[in-house]
Amino acid sequence: MSTPPPAPSAPSRPVTVVTGGSRGIGAATAVHLARQGHDLVVGYRSGRLEAEAVVTAARDLGVRAVAVRADVADPDDVDALFAAAAEQLGPVTGLVANAGLTAHLGDLADTPVEVVRQVIDVNLLGVVLCVRRAAQVMSRRRGGPGGAIVTVSSSAATLGSAHEYVHYAAAKAGVDALTMGLAKELADDGVRVNAVAPGLVRTDIHAGAGDAGRLERVTARVPMGRPGEPDEIAPAIAWLLGPEAGYVSGAVLRVAGGL
Ligand code: NAP
Repeated sequence: MSTPPPAPSAPSRPVTVVTGGSRGIGAATAVHLARQGHDLVVGYRSGRLEAEAVVTAARDLGVRAVAVRADVADPDDVDALFAAAAEQLGPVTGLVANAGLTAHLGDLADTPVEVVRQVIDVNLLGVVLCVRRAAQVMSRRRGGPGGAIVTVSSSAATLGSAHEYVHYAAAKAGVDALTMGLAKELADDGVRVNAVAPGLVRTDIHAGAGDAGRLERVTARVPMGRPGEPDEIAPAIAWLLGPEAGYVSGAVLRVAGGL
């Protein structure tokens, strides 16, 4: 009598890092991914209590989750973020490079250089550093498990955001180019790379730029006549991360109510 084949081991859950997971689109995405069975690292810069609330919500859905403080514009913090993920949850298989800010509203000529630098540091350099680290740990050629990366861009990348924050739009256009190029670099390495480009979404980002009323003020520009909600962005990110998007890489998926 032949020996029966070994029972298949249970598939391990995806381990996904979400930067800027404490609020807004990142928090909604983390909870959505928890519902789909992802173990999670919820990255944040200053909102520890908010990040811990997201972790609690994820754990209540039956997954493992930890909150890790990391400034995405700091390479040492980014390394520590991925090290904490590997130590506490196992090999990382997914990244949502979501952390971002607009910081200030106005014409470029009136925008202080330090604001321009901060916006480019967080929205572009921060994404570059995070996807670089993800490529190092996820690439199959380098001994990683493979996986998927989703960057969070913006409709600003193609609209330009005149009189608001053209430097932010430029940073997001950089994210689109980075996404396309890295997708090609990693296409035969088991890692897919895509972007989601939201339009106008109801989060604290507008108040963070000093204009809590911006959402209402610019809603008229949105063809659907209303802002989006974070819960309407999260499923697009989750789909791009997941197996149903297995042949999708290098795409920028606009989720912007027609904007
Ligand atoms: P949000 O509610 O203001 O949340 C921003 C998140 O990013 C927070 O978790 C914040 O952490 C984190 N963050 C900011 N700077 C960071 C840094 N240096 N290092 C690490 N984390 C940092 O903003 P949101 O609207 O959800 O934005 C999420 C992404 O969507 C951003 O990339 C944004 O550009 C993009 N987006 C937003 C809209 C919109 O209308 N809301 C439209 C298009 C694109 P703390 O809580 O710790 O500060």
